[in-house]
Amino acid sequence: MNTPVIGVLALQGDVREHLIALAAADAVARPVRRPEELAEVDGLVIPGGESTTISKLAALFGMLEPLRERVRAGLPVYGTCAGLIMLADKILDPRSGQETIGGIEMIVRRNAFGRQNESFEATVEVAGVGPVEGVFIRAPWVESVGAETEVLAEHGGHIVAVRQNNALATSFHPELTGDHRMHALFVDMVRAAS
Ligand code: GLN
Repeated sequence: MNTPVIGVLALQGDVREHLIALAAADAVARPVRRPEELAEVDGLVIPGGESTTISKLAALFGMLEPLRERVRAGLPVYGTCAGLIMLADKILDPRSGQETIGGIEMIVRRNAFGRQNESFEATVEVAGVGPVEGVFIRAPWVESVGAETEVLAEHGGHIVAVRQNNALATSFHPELTGDHRMHALFVDMVRAAS
């Protein structure tokens, strides 16, 4: 496959920034809101935003089960921040009714790095990629991972990037920096999977 088609789950969050970053990383990028649209993509990005809102809208749009099914079947997925939370098998401190898609054996802590006004940027060393400027906005961290989960980066002693098979997740937002290496890594994963 030359140019993979990668969707961005467009229920809430910074969808546009991911569409731009994916296009810059040589993918055909399109928003995904409905099961029929999900069925047509080779990979999917779950953006940053508010995980409780994304969870509720996914249920409302009838997307939660189709998402779980495709991820279980091996669809390559990349979640940033709230998207990382959506890919967690377990949330330590979920809001009531908050559900995830799952796919990565990990336990996450929401808002772990503090509140909105404690947002920060830091250079993060990502295995296989190199130093990346990490933008952390009310970011979660990964409290613990399972045996199959690869830790790609830590910040301040906390896990902030992971991969398990075809699922990639970061606590930070590479889509906001203009550096498209994380998206390029994901596009490579999509190419390798298909
Ligand atoms: N704290 C948010 C949540 O729980 C995530 C913030 C973000 O995506 N920038 O969903």
